[in-house]
Amino acid sequence: MLSNNLSDETGRLCALERHNALCYASEASFDQITGLMQTILGLKMVSVSLITKDKQVLKARQGFELNESSRTNAFCALTIQSYDPLVVEDTHEDARLCDNPYVTGEPFVRCYIGAPLTTTDGYNIGTVCAFDTYPRKFTAQEANIVTRFADLIMNQFELRNMADRDFLTQLPNRRNFEAGLQQELGRLSQNNGTATLAVIDIDHFKQVNDRLGHSSGDRVLREFATILAKNCRANDLVARLGGEEFAVFLPDTRIETARIWADRMRQEVADASFDAENAVRVTISVGLAVLDGTITPFDAISRLADNALFAAKRQGRNRVVAA
Ligand code: GH3
Ligand code: MG
Ligand code: MG
Repeated sequence: MLSNNLSDETGRLCALERHNALCYASEASFDQITGLMQTILGLKMVSVSLITKDKQVLKARQGFELNESSRTNAFCALTIQSYDPLVVEDTHEDARLCDNPYVTGEPFVRCYIGAPLTTTDGYNIGTVCAFDTYPRKFTAQEANIVTRFADLIMNQFELRNMADRDFLTQLPNRRNFEAGLQQELGRLSQNNGTATLAVIDIDHFKQVNDRLGHSSGDRVLREFATILAKNCRANDLVARLGGEEFAVFLPDTRIETARIWADRMRQEVADASFDAENAVRVTISVGLAVLDGTITPFDAISRLADNALFAAKRQGRNRVVAA
């Protein structure tokens, strides 16, 4: 049984962020689902949308063009107020919707059926819905079908998230990081910008495992990931590259600024106590490399930062070194 989180808007926005689902681009897997739904229900327009703080963002669409709208006018903002599907047979007869700009203007929505996209912890992050320009009746079976499609879409989000995130820390994984980095590098070379890549490695981490066991090591990794994420800005790319190695791409950041940032975090980690039960103390070494968009293959870039990291280790660890 779901916990009822329908009125917890703050939690809902966190759930949306956790699902990492916001993206304008259509993806084939979602288009396949909405295409099938269009055929089964015989309705011209279908969409998958996510409801943010103030917007409706369309993740996939069939039969109309729209990337986003204000939340105020979105039918789907109504749909997420319940765990049950919203069925409107004729918008002209519905006091909530008859004046809606999508009813009185393009795309002239007359009938609507939509189900919430509900997370396993009971947050409605968006909807899948189908609609058309004429009034019509819907059966209970059709409402059930839309709910089943919502389940499929949530599965798709979960799978995508599993492929992009590291299971232990929930940070983006290396694959995801490399993809994001490629985009950022394209942007850098276009606008002659400067960015910094930081590669971070926990010092003598093997000793934590050897002394206190693997599960204590796991707790340290998770708590370290929290500190790292907390120190990153919204536009920074952060990832667990593997093992006890992490990376942060700092866009629009010169190396001097990155050094101050990294050193502050290094100090925070050195002062912190991890895994409360065992009060584990660890330090980190950080290698920094400045990027200007002239070097693009991931291997070449990470080699720069790795060399700096290696120097930090050689110089005694618990320090920040720039390439
Ligand atoms: P250095 O200061 O040179 O980096 O020493 P180190 O001990 O941190 O480096 P080393 O590469 O020798 O050991 C890394 C250790 O990290 C070994 C491995 O067992 C551990 N490790 C990697 N992934 C995980 C994980 O997911 N959980 C736990 N508990 N340990 C992990
Ligand atoms: Mg290490
Ligand atoms: Mg390592």
